[in-house]
Formats: sequence, C-alpha cells, structure tokens
Amino acid sequence: MDKGVYGACYYYLNEIVIDKESFIKLSHENREELVWHEFGHCALKIYRHTATGIMKPAGLHDPVYYRIFYSFLMNDLFQSRVYINIQYDPSKYMLLKRGI
Ligand SMILES: [Zn+2]
Repeated sequence: MDKGVYGACYYYLNEIVIDKESFIKLSHENREELVWHEFGHCALKIYRHTATGIMKPAGLHDPVYYRIFYSFLMNDLFQSRVYINIQYDPSKYMLLKRGI
C-alpha cells in the first residue's frame, strides 16, 4: 500500500485492504471510522468522496468529535448513498484510497 494511505477498497475484487502498520497506531475511534469509510465504498457503493463526514477523502476525525457526532456521521454516511446513487459500472473500476 502507498505510503500515507490507511486503507483502500478494490471494487473489482470487492475487497477492503487496511494498512496494518497504520492501523495499529490508530485510536479505536479512528480504526472504526477507517473501516466505515471503506465499507462506504465497497458495501454501500459510494464511489465518490464527500467534502465532510465519513466519506471525506483524507484524514480521520478527532476521536472525541467522532464519538460526540457519531449519530450525525452515520446518518450522513447512509444518506450519501441515496443522494449519490451511482449505479455500478464495471467500465469505471477504480481504487479509492484514504490517506493521512
Ligand atoms: Zn475513500
């Protein structure tokens, strides 16, 4: 995995890859957020990043912020799928990575 990248979703394999070296250094909240982010791509089929929330392209929220705004972040994550509603298109296979 590229340096500075925590995780990735390989759409064509429907597989999430997490960088172990980075993962072990993260807080529990950051680990959870990272996995939610990649689930967003691979399970919810959100193929774009959003400006804010779980699907923002880089960086993880402060663990305290994450806990306080957990419900908001989760609602936002699941609504993103509805609003974006991109159909699965094999011709657009791509890898989305989440960096530091
Ligand atoms: Zn991403």
